[in-house]
Amino acid sequence: MGPDTVEADVIVVGAGPGGSTAACHLADRGLNVALLEKASFPREKVCGDGLTPRATKQLIRLGIDTSESAGWLHNKGLRVYGGRAEPFELPWPELGEFPSYGLVRPRADFDQLLASHAVGKGADLYENANVTSPILDSRTDRIVGVTTKDGRTFRAPFVLAADGNSSPLAKSMGLFKRDDRPMGVAVRAYFTSPRDRDDYMESWLELWD
Ligand SMILES: Cc1cc2nc3c(=O)[nH]c(=O)nc-3n(C[C@H](O)[C@H](O)[C@H](O)COP(=O)(O)OP(=O)(O)OC[C@H]3O[C@@H](n4cnc5c(N)ncnc54)[C@H](O)[C@@H]3O)c2cc1C
Repeated sequence: MGPDTVEADVIVVGAGPGGSTAACHLADRGLNVALLEKASFPREKVCGDGLTPRATKQLIRLGIDTSESAGWLHNKGLRVYGGRAEPFELPWPELGEFPSYGLVRPRADFDQLLASHAVGKGADLYENANVTSPILDSRTDRIVGVTTKDGRTFRAPFVLAADGNSSPLAKSMGLFKRDDRPMGVAVRAYFTSPRDRDDYMESWLELWD
């Protein structure tokens, strides 16, 4: 084992919401977690920045303060333009198991907050750790670690690929996207608006198929 080798119980590749959340739960249960992120925080991510009550519940479960004074914008529901001229106004349902509000927060800030939360639970965050290939056990062919572009080696009995939609790590392990599934293309932009405090998230979307 060289000096550039880090050993952990679990390696999580990718510190987006998926990876950081997994790292929080694993570290919280006493596991030694190496959380590897190719970028460094704060970093941008294309997204609508809106969280439904289901996602909000997961944040509360992690012990994250989701109050407005902690920088979140609360909303009451969804306003959907689609299929007819008048919008559908859909308040979030009042359910015992979920909060009755959703949230908005820019991803640049949100993802950093989650990664820092994982560190607070005991995970080791490695930024600028661009995973380039898996390390395979020659006997079992199972993944037992990863190497990064700058030559570091991380080893663990479990490796979690949370490296996003196109998941290069999953591909390197032989998993490929299904060509019979549709592919979407998105463009995102921020702009100033007098309605940026609207308490309904607004969606303009027509999906006919
Ligand atoms: C236009 C658009 C709008 C959206 N709007 C919303 C919305 O309003 N609300 C909502 O809930 N969801 C929305 N989504 C979906 C949301 O963005 C994803 O569900 C979410 O980002 C998935 O999280 P993840 O952690 O799985 O992956 P990601 O957020 O993609 O994170 C993957 C992480 O892995 C890192 N990584 C990648 N490769 C490597 C590597 N080789 N080595 C190390 N690290 C690596 C990346 O840098 C990144 O930090 C939207 C998506 C798009 C495209």
